[in-house]
Amino acid sequence: MNTPSARIAEAASCLSGHDPEALPVAQAQQIIRSMLAPIDAVEKLALRAALGRVLARDIVSSIDVPAHDNSAMDGYALHGADLDAECAVALKIVGTAFAGRPFNGLVGRGECVGIMTGAIMPDTCDSVAPQELVQATGDMRLTVPAGAIQPGANRRLRGEDLQSGSTALARGKILRPADLGLLASLGVAEVPVYRKLRVAFFSTGDELRSIGEPLDPGCVYDSNRYTLYGMLTRLGCEVIDLGVVKDDPATLEATLRSACEAADAIVTSGGVSVGEADYTRQIMAQLGEVAFWKLAMRPGRPLAFGRIASNGHSACLFGLPGNPVAVMVSFYFFAREALLQMMGAEAPPLPLLRVPTQSAIRKKAGRTEYQRGILAVDEQGRQTVRTTGAQGSGVLRSMSEANCMVVLAHEQGEVEAGDEVDVIVFDGLI
Ligand code: AMP
Ligand code: MG
Repeated sequence: MNTPSARIAEAASCLSGHDPEALPVAQAQQIIRSMLAPIDAVEKLALRAALGRVLARDIVSSIDVPAHDNSAMDGYALHGADLDAECAVALKIVGTAFAGRPFNGLVGRGECVGIMTGAIMPDTCDSVAPQELVQATGDMRLTVPAGAIQPGANRRLRGEDLQSGSTALARGKILRPADLGLLASLGVAEVPVYRKLRVAFFSTGDELRSIGEPLDPGCVYDSNRYTLYGMLTRLGCEVIDLGVVKDDPATLEATLRSACEAADAIVTSGGVSVGEADYTRQIMAQLGEVAFWKLAMRPGRPLAFGRIASNGHSACLFGLPGNPVAVMVSFYFFAREALLQMMGAEAPPLPLLRVPTQSAIRKKAGRTEYQRGILAVDEQGRQTVRTTGAQGSGVLRSMSEANCMVVLAHEQGEVEAGDEVDVIVFDGLI
């Protein structure tokens, strides 16, 4: 039987030097990528409602945008051939073209029309002299100084934004504000998008308490429930919050089953570290095929990945570690890309900046490290990065204070002050 774990093992064995006790991040990402398929259900949404959703079809422009040559400036439309680089020319003003109200007369040689930004260029005119570069006199005469503009200046060409028949937006695009505007410029009112990916998530651990409950000795409040909620919601998933599950086989099995029946993907936190993996592994093995990895990374070493089934429904599963920073790092560097792939999104890799570090960073070659950083501009106006201090995988404050992640590659050794490091910025402008 071609089971998913058999397939995971097969995918893993294709990788040279694959070591399940210290699987390099890039290899784990590659295995996950090779195992997932995008959802195919499509829905049509009104333009505004499509913000942040994944486009399910290519959008081909049915019109030229702009539909006509038009003026890029307020000024005067004229014949480029009338211009003289050596001496001023005098032209007769024969009318005005407004945006939305074209000038329909003829503009002969030696003539011009006043024109507003966005107004259609009169047929015979090919250039616009901006208002501030010319002198209009009361008797409908205009003087264009020598060399004021080049022939052809300040004319926007028909179709220069989008040509009829060209692909305006490609399937898989996550729609951003500019895309809504672009679709509106084509007159598109409804947009085909993939249905939202349904993701169920829960926290595991006897020591976890929910907000509002008393904090018994040795217990902690369940913070992963909130970070996971935030990360999944920001990614554009429909979240199904299954709360806290005790370290008890029957409850874990029941919760995994209901998650599987309700969702396309399941994200759990906790219960995959060495001490607990055996018991989680047994339950997951009953429900499907899940690989438990030890990754060559910090934080976030244990990770479970696979697919489980219940009552004819199946869902892909990410078993993330329990430590609050580890869960976030594992989400961003494993689950995020995988979920985007399932959402049908063509998401390019996150851009990396190369920035000098303010101080040395301890680092061992042979694992990828994700240190929380603060990117800032120094007195000389240069960007530099420093780490947020204590980098323990339980120190959630480090994520909250950081504005970027310093990514130290697998092979990288010790980092000296002033060395350039890779940085992924948390927040984008759009
Ligand atoms: P585990 O991966 O289950 O061994 O958990 C590792 C550490 O993370 C333990 O100290 C847990 O108490 C802590 N932890 C696990 N889940 C959560 C959670 N949902 N919120 C806060 N801390 C957690
Ligand atoms: Mg636990």
